[in-house]
Amino acid sequence: MKKTTGQNREITKLWRPATQAVRGGTWRSEHGETSEALFLSSGFTYDDAETVAARFAGEQDGMTYSRLQNPTVQMLEERIALMEGAEACRAQATGMAAMTTALLCQLQMGDHVVAARAAFGSCRWLTDNLLPKWGISTTTIDSRDNDAWKAAIQPNTKVFFFETPANPTMDIVDMAYVCGLAKEHGITTVVDNAFATSVLQRPMDFGADVVAYSATKLMDGQGRVLAGAVCGSQQWIDDVLLPFQRNTGPNLSPFNAWVVHKGLETLELRAMRQSENALVVGKFLEGRVPHMMHPGLESHPQHALAMQQMKACGPIFAFSVDGGRKQAHALLNGLKLIDISNNIGDARSLMCHPASSTHHSMGPEAREAMGVGEGLIRINVGLEDPADLIEDLDQALKAAGL
Ligand SMILES: *Cc1c(COP(=O)(O)O)cnc(C)c1O
Repeated sequence: MKKTTGQNREITKLWRPATQAVRGGTWRSEHGETSEALFLSSGFTYDDAETVAARFAGEQDGMTYSRLQNPTVQMLEERIALMEGAEACRAQATGMAAMTTALLCQLQMGDHVVAARAAFGSCRWLTDNLLPKWGISTTTIDSRDNDAWKAAIQPNTKVFFFETPANPTMDIVDMAYVCGLAKEHGITTVVDNAFATSVLQRPMDFGADVVAYSATKLMDGQGRVLAGAVCGSQQWIDDVLLPFQRNTGPNLSPFNAWVVHKGLETLELRAMRQSENALVVGKFLEGRVPHMMHPGLESHPQHALAMQQMKACGPIFAFSVDGGRKQAHALLNGLKLIDISNNIGDARSLMCHPASSTHHSMGPEAREAMGVGEGLIRINVGLEDPADLIEDLDQALKAAGL
């Protein structure tokens, strides 16, 4: 492999984000390919036995086995780290592999975690079921309430875990306050930044220690592959995350890494345009539905905080209707252009009813407590012309009696 400027951190860290998104991490083979190569190989070969020994001893850089490192995956990791402003990144098989790895690699029996109550369903499963089963206690709180974070700290609290905006209630966490509080108490903050990505919000600029991703969402952005990533300091990645990851193997396939890597080249264009479209669609819906949860609209109680932390509002928001599940399902069933789908971050507009899909397994009480009612609908606004989306929503709303 030829080292190109894309692999020279001294140079790439000085580039602006748009340049990093297109060229950061590029590492060319002897063929000089323009598009980064796909190394779909599980293992690697060596010219002599001494080389293997040197690589396993950590005395020589180079590939040994794709659970430990792979050139295509490494290119993606380098690009994500640059865009995040993080020292290091390791890619994971899925967003949930990233969340699980980020938490389990640093926790042990007897530790305590404070987590946001409003979160992706499987993230709540980690804090409600998996961690307690292994002797790690958890407290879930209203993440909008700064005092609640403070009040939940115990002498054995090791980690704060949250998303902002949260899936699907769009609760916003005051990152500067919460990350600062964590630092004062020696607590590691893990932020799930799937809804925003580094293009719209960089949690490390507000003091976050670890940023974890579902790259399935906006990073891929075209609904093709599952992927995840964890960013942190070089020391944390090397000493805390890597021993766990290398031995348990939640690794991303090189093919999926390649797809996401290409997705990053257009991430900013998509995230900004989809945010604009989400604002147009949100303004239309605001006049038609009883309750909006849209961080880009002034009606959102944390609009000012959201816009202080984010460059744009993002493509995802939620709203609710008063007729419960029946009316929410009727609205979805009336759609002719927008798809019914529980995915987000896609270039296509997608809508779902979280209570009967993404947050189904939590049960009605936990859903109610985190604000996911029976009338709540989540929308991911894509790259279509918003006028077509509004026409579709208008006729579906009418069909649902709204
Ligand atoms: C989708 C999602 C995840 C899980 O990601 P997968 O790639 O589906 O495993 C985690 N957190 C948030 C906020 C998500 O939206």
